[in-house]
Amino acid sequence: MKIFLEGKWVDKSNKIEVRNPYDNSVIDTVPRADGGDVERALSFAERGAKVTAKLSGYDRWRILRQAADIMAARNEELGQLISKEEGKIIAEGRGETSRAVETIMGSAEEAKRIHGETVPLDGDPGGGKKLGFTLRVPCGVVAAISPFNFPLNLVCHKVGPALAAGNSVIVKPASDTPLSALKLTEILLEAGLPPEGIQCVTGSGGEIGDALVADRRVRKVTFTGSREIGDRICRMAGIKKVTMELGSNSPLIIMPDADLDKVAAAVALTGYGNAGQTCISTQRVLTAKKVYGDFLGALKPKVEALTTGNQLDEKSKVGPMVKESEARRVEDWINEAVAGGARLVAGGGRRGAIYVPAVVADVKPEMRISRDELFGPAVAVTPFDSMDEAIALANDTVYGLSAGIFTENLEWAMRFAREVESGNLHVNWGPQWRADLMPYGGLKDSGFGKEGPRYAVEEMTELKMVVFHLSR
Ligand code: NAP
Repeated sequence: MKIFLEGKWVDKSNKIEVRNPYDNSVIDTVPRADGGDVERALSFAERGAKVTAKLSGYDRWRILRQAADIMAARNEELGQLISKEEGKIIAEGRGETSRAVETIMGSAEEAKRIHGETVPLDGDPGGGKKLGFTLRVPCGVVAAISPFNFPLNLVCHKVGPALAAGNSVIVKPASDTPLSALKLTEILLEAGLPPEGIQCVTGSGGEIGDALVADRRVRKVTFTGSREIGDRICRMAGIKKVTMELGSNSPLIIMPDADLDKVAAAVALTGYGNAGQTCISTQRVLTAKKVYGDFLGALKPKVEALTTGNQLDEKSKVGPMVKESEARRVEDWINEAVAGGARLVAGGGRRGAIYVPAVVADVKPEMRISRDELFGPAVAVTPFDSMDEAIALANDTVYGLSAGIFTENLEWAMRFAREVESGNLHVNWGPQWRADLMPYGGLKDSGFGKEGPRYAVEEMTELKMVVFHLSR
């Protein structure tokens, strides 16, 4: 595919190969943009922001609404593309497309709801003859940098609200999965978006990222990706608005009163979806000692039933990871834990980019599969004695994106919601659950700012305060 730069589809001789992780075959190539391309994109986007700021709320609604309809009609094609470039099973590729339709549709709805409010200035001792109100205006140029694991929906979570708010966007998708973002660009143009509204530039983040995020013409950076790159972007960005959606090692607490069949079913769904490559995947399963053995017994057959294979085969339950080096990393971390005294209860082992879904028990909190973000198809199970200990273990991390608890006890559930340091909290489900309309984002090193169209539109706009100094 080509990149969309300065209102045109542009090719380059320097390419990035996009591979199907299942068999390593090349699906397509995309241009490898350089610093000169970024400079062109920035100056075009600066002019473009003046065009998009003039679109009415109705225009922005109509374009996004039309794009959502086109995406829905092309669900199968988009689902196949996501699945091929990322490795997730085809059912998940279709599911991601359906979610992306909701994200763009939700953004369309927000385009009609951007408003300020009157401010009761007469509440101030000197404000008697003043009339005040706020205006919400677009930021201008938005740089949207996205990760590999949801190559369509996470781009929609940035592009949808940015356009709904009247900005011009430069999208920099992940180099492993750039095709879905380019397709989305095509669809938005087909839906009537002025070409000034979007550019999609593919290229190595390490090579072009700094030039993009540090530039003063960019007024808002929205980033989803790893903590390490997020940290670098925050330091490079300077004085501008920034949203950071970063990683996690999400905990799930299993209290002694939990229904273990329900818990096991939830862990099998929330720990292994997209081969565990979900930022809120259930990773650390903290289990009350009283039910520890019974829980492992209930989980084992459910995880063993997760058959692996070609992601495009409807029978596969788990596909390859995004690339073989990632599956090798997961293998190393699990081997290291087992060498340190942890116990492989189910699965394990690697074939190319496929890592067989695993359950690792007796994991010590200081082991890498517990302490760091695993981002692979395995859960780390650790016993606890008391709720105090469970909460301390859940919070013993730099991350805070999502957490879950299984209990029927209201007091315990409420204590979990109050005391666990996490942006999303789930009672009687695993950490991996998201409705695209909800406010979504992390605490601590999992980032700051919220996504979900209504909340992202706030992050993609500036608030102006207007005061009329009246004489009577
Ligand atoms: P990543 O390695 O951090 O890459 C994310 C994006 O940043 C890619 O487009 C990458 O480009 C780009 N990038 C790399 N270096 C850069 C630089 N110096 N400046 C600017 N951009 C740069 O993350 P990933 O491996 O794709 O995704 C997995 C991570 O994302 C996990 O940590 C996961 O938890 C997190 N995530 C978080 C959420 C959330 O909502 N909180 C959702 C999904 C994923 P290249 O691909 O060209 O290197």
